[in-house]
Amino acid sequence: MFAELSPHASALRDKLVAFMDEHVYPNEHALLKPPREAEKWSPRPLAMELMRKAKAAGLWNLFYNHGPEGQGLSNWEYSQLCEILGRSLAAPEIFNCNAPDVGNMEILSMYGTDAQKERWLKPLLTGEIRSCFAMTEPRVASSDATNIETDIRRDGDHYVVNGRKWWTTGANSERCKVAIVMGKSDRSAPKHKQQSMILVPMDAPGVTVERALSVYGYEHAPLGHGEVVFDNVRVPAENMLLGEGRGFEVAQGRLGPGRIHHCMRFIGLAERALEIMCERAKSRTAFGSSFAEMGAIRQAIGQSRCDIEQARLVTLKAAWTMDRLGNKAARNEIAVAKIVVPETAGKVIDRAIQVHGGAGLSQDFFLAEAFAETRFLRIGDGPDEVHREALARVELGKLN
Ligand SMILES: Cc1cc2nc3c(=O)[nH]c(=O)nc-3n(C[C@H](O)[C@H](O)[C@H](O)COP(=O)(O)OP(=O)(O)OC[C@H]3O[C@@H](n4cnc5c(N)ncnc54)[C@H](O)[C@@H]3O)c2cc1C
Repeated sequence: MFAELSPHASALRDKLVAFMDEHVYPNEHALLKPPREAEKWSPRPLAMELMRKAKAAGLWNLFYNHGPEGQGLSNWEYSQLCEILGRSLAAPEIFNCNAPDVGNMEILSMYGTDAQKERWLKPLLTGEIRSCFAMTEPRVASSDATNIETDIRRDGDHYVVNGRKWWTTGANSERCKVAIVMGKSDRSAPKHKQQSMILVPMDAPGVTVERALSVYGYEHAPLGHGEVVFDNVRVPAENMLLGEGRGFEVAQGRLGPGRIHHCMRFIGLAERALEIMCERAKSRTAFGSSFAEMGAIRQAIGQSRCDIEQARLVTLKAAWTMDRLGNKAARNEIAVAKIVVPETAGKVIDRAIQVHGGAGLSQDFFLAEAFAETRFLRIGDGPDEVHREALARVELGKLN
């Protein structure tokens, strides 16, 4: 777990650090600034230009290890690079490493047919298009995915999809061309065999993105989080992923790497929050003393270092276990990281906000948006309680 990075990964890390310094941090404000209403969901020329630069620099698809389009990094190696790109909320898309596309590319690589890969995976890997993942529904408690109500019904050579989804990240973007939709294809089958996942082109008749949802007011344009209606949407039968009734298998394949990538990025965000907390503390004085000399602020800084180190260790352990034993065998370590890291990163970022005073809550710093991100991940990809419940089952099971 404490080995050196390979020369390839180490060279990529150095290049990534230099790219972040030269291109990402100086453009961060412009990239994160809410766009004008009319252009909200359109691709941003600056982001597209930086994507081209990242690709030209060989800093593309760093997460991907299924073929020559990727960098062949292990999860443990990618963790250390993902932490660097996670330092800016604007960065993941620039390196084609953003959710939900990463998870969708994983799904298509693992379970897609040759035709599905040709049509959807290839343009996702080049960054030509974006995608979304539509599982959560407003009408049911979706942390239990067996509740999902969307209907996927076979009709000759087609399937017909009917349902309402929300929190479909990426759906609002003009560049989003395909959705992976989870629904029920056989309500009489055993509980975990009723669900299927199917590829639905976003321009298919009957697909409507009704509105964008916001997280503490952040709309995350140009990707967004859509409420999407599927009204008698007909798609060819060959759009089914893996096979009818195998939706849960597909979901499991997706969520392992996806969950851990969020954790890696949040460690980068927390690390940067601590850095600017220290800069701020050293640059301001009140009541006759420097913030950096005030006990309460020094405690906040010291505790933040402890918190980040713990969060990084559980994340690296999860990545290391995934590499050695596979995603399924690493599920407990992934669950621990998924619970620990968002909460820990949230605490560190919250302390940084406090030290910044009003400035920390403003759009002049990345802290407020970063805090909102960490809060969302205590619910997204499964609420903390569901992961704790799974861990409790394992622990109690040890006594049987
Ligand atoms: C910003 C954002 C982006 C998202 N992106 C996507 C996306 O791209 N695609 C997608 O499909 N979904 C997405 N989601 C949805 C997310 O995955 C769901 O919100 C999450 O799974 C919880 O489902 P729910 O909202 O229906 O909450 P519910 O299932 O109604 O749960 C509500 C609360 O009940 C409690 N609870 C639930 N189960 C238990 C339990 N076993 N024990 C104790 N307490 C429990 C928890 O506190 C939980 O927060 C996103 C959400 C957010 C906020």
